[in-house]
Amino acid sequence: MADAEFNIQGDDEMRVEFAARVKLKAYVRSLINDKPHCELCKLPILGVPEYDHRKADGLGGEATLENCAVLCGKCHRRKTHEEDRPIMAKADRQFKAKAGIKGPKRKWPKRKFA
Ligand SMILES: [Zn+2]
Repeated sequence: MADAEFNIQGDDEMRVEFAARVKLKAYVRSLINDKPHCELCKLPILGVPEYDHRKADGLGGEATLENCAVLCGKCHRRKTHEEDRPIMAKADRQFKAKAGIKGPKRKWPKRKFA
């Protein structure tokens, strides 16, 4: 259950990934005493650093160095699930509302008498 919820690799739509040189520059930027540090919690990253769009690419965030944050896995998962997803879901709803697109009407079970 928990593993499924934190599946941040699930690329179900087109994403603009960072170029290797952008990641490299961001990585160098995050170095303190030759060790990468998370740009959110500021702690040293013990595993492999993860690269996050500060502004989600689904919201027009570009794959530039300025929009690239070096994060530890913990912060990346937290940001993705608590910040990016709800904002993107809201943007999606507003876009659909403008376009006059509604989801299927919810069907209520008919109440049975007798
Ligand atoms: Zn962190």
